[in-house]
Amino acid sequence: MLSPSRLAWIKDSAVPARHETAMTDLPRPLSQPLPLPEPEDVAFAGTIRLHVDASDVLRRIFRVHEVIPVPGKGVYTLLLPKWLPGYHAPQAPIELLAGLAFEAAGEPLHWSRHPTEVHAFHVSVPDGATEIDARFQFLSPTSSAQGRVVVSPDLLNLEWNCVVLYPAGHFSRRIAVDAKLTLPEGWQLATALPFASQTGDTVQFETIQLDELVDSPVMAGRHYRRIELDDGGVTLNVFADAAHQLAATEEQIAPHRAVVTQADRLFGRRPFDRFEVLLALSDEIGSIGVEHHRSCEIASIGEYFTDWDNSFPRRDSFPHEYIHGWNGKHRRGADSWAPCFYQPIRNSLMWVYEGQTQYWDRVLCARSGLWTREQTLSALADIAATHDMQAGSRWRPVSDTTKDPIIAARAPLPWPSWQRSEDYYTEGALIWLDVDTRIRELTGEARSLDDFAHTFFGAELPVDGITRTYLFDDVVRTLRDIADEDWSAFFVERLHDTRSDAPLAGIKRGGYRLVYRAVPSEMWRAKEQLSGIRSFIYSLGLSVSSDGEVQEVRWESAAFDAAITAGTKLIGVNGLTFTPDALDRAIEEASSDKPIDLLVQAGKYQREVSIDWSEGHRYPVLEPIPGSVRRLDDILAPR
Ligand SMILES: [Zn+2]
Repeated sequence: MLSPSRLAWIKDSAVPARHETAMTDLPRPLSQPLPLPEPEDVAFAGTIRLHVDASDVLRRIFRVHEVIPVPGKGVYTLLLPKWLPGYHAPQAPIELLAGLAFEAAGEPLHWSRHPTEVHAFHVSVPDGATEIDARFQFLSPTSSAQGRVVVSPDLLNLEWNCVVLYPAGHFSRRIAVDAKLTLPEGWQLATALPFASQTGDTVQFETIQLDELVDSPVMAGRHYRRIELDDGGVTLNVFADAAHQLAATEEQIAPHRAVVTQADRLFGRRPFDRFEVLLALSDEIGSIGVEHHRSCEIASIGEYFTDWDNSFPRRDSFPHEYIHGWNGKHRRGADSWAPCFYQPIRNSLMWVYEGQTQYWDRVLCARSGLWTREQTLSALADIAATHDMQAGSRWRPVSDTTKDPIIAARAPLPWPSWQRSEDYYTEGALIWLDVDTRIRELTGEARSLDDFAHTFFGAELPVDGITRTYLFDDVVRTLRDIADEDWSAFFVERLHDTRSDAPLAGIKRGGYRLVYRAVPSEMWRAKEQLSGIRSFIYSLGLSVSSDGEVQEVRWESAAFDAAITAGTKLIGVNGLTFTPDALDRAIEEASSDKPIDLLVQAGKYQREVSIDWSEGHRYPVLEPIPGSVRRLDDILAPR
């Protein structure tokens, strides 16, 4: 049950701090409101009963009724989860909670919001009450301008953190919840939550703890296909906008099965008893990939299977989120774990959590056959070029970017190559390639990063869905047992120093070098086609949509020198109306005595710019180094 909160925050927040005197009329700070109570590892007395009605898919509204036990009179604090592990940030959309009302024994109760912790609500409960009823709606976005769209007339993606209020003062693994969910008539659902019963379109789940509930999203829809990926309980649950989009062939399913097999060979042991891959193929809901203990949620493009030859750049989502079952969910950097959803998480080891996951997702794409070796090398070339041509590393070390989920929350940035954005993913992957090839070199090719993955993430631990944490020193110690090296100094230098050169040692030791060629890779072209954005980022220094709107300008590029910015509109190219092909041709034909003449518009201001550019097109490629040990080929080969 809830323990009564002190009312003092209400009084204190209005009282001037004690040091205020009449000596000056300059402002003095008020005292801060009382903080939320420290969570304790003690069980909440009673079970919360939660009912979410998700049947109003045309208005995209989830309606919530929750019954919360209380011990009697008092002021209680209830919260919407704020700090979400898979998002690495306080990303809960509190602004979409509305219609909040509490009552006890049929009488309405007064509530107020905490003055600074806006996810927390205080409710005054009268004498004699044993439980309170909470009712509210989660008004899911009706357009992408409001946030990620999660509901369409054909499918929905429910994250429980949007629809549950929970009591302050307890570890989230000590709060029991009885959840039930009502869906539109005839819809099917998939989730890692264990089913208790079903009545009509309402599913009752077994009683579970709050942390597991929040970690177990639901996907549901009208068009559904369940595909067993192996005999051990890994299932691909596909929901789609239309029935024909479910038509995956055996040939397409095979590499998804191989991801499961290759992950088993990499890690050795599964930290889950079963795993539900929740895959939405939709152009209606917003794309996402989030990891969980026994499931992952992925929203990809509608044509994932039906345009198989062109959709391949999107195939890395499944291995990425699946690998997180080991790296991120089973084991996590200690400061990325918090006992409840109102205590901040820090992300100092995100270069392991996301960086090594990104490394392995590329590797498993190749080992499973989701990508060919050439496609995987192209994906690595793209990462390498990002950091080869990135000015931001001169002022900002990659370790500082682990704070980006909190700083920027993936908002569009004006100068991402200078600001940097969550580079612990891609630069992290390059650092782990460096580690992998270094281990191979140090041990005469006897050991590799596979041994680290096997030892560190596949270690014998209970399969109980509970995260085990680690520290920097644990990473270093495990690596030292595999190959004798000063790994601590290795990481400190690469993570915490600024630098002006790219971290490409792993590519070189892998037997390849990064070069730029005039023709883009198949991967590059496919990404352009999927996004509708043509990228000339390593030549002229910009990317642009088909209607001429500049998406990004690389810091200190030729486009930067011409003061073109993201949001600028390209109107004319060499005297012709802008088209992406016209710009493509202009770059190809430009020379020292033939500049690229652009007519550009920013806001209402038009101007002509003339850009000297004589290097033609530049697209990144990994090229084998003649006579070298091709370690990268071995890394990418199936086990
Ligand atoms: Zn990830």
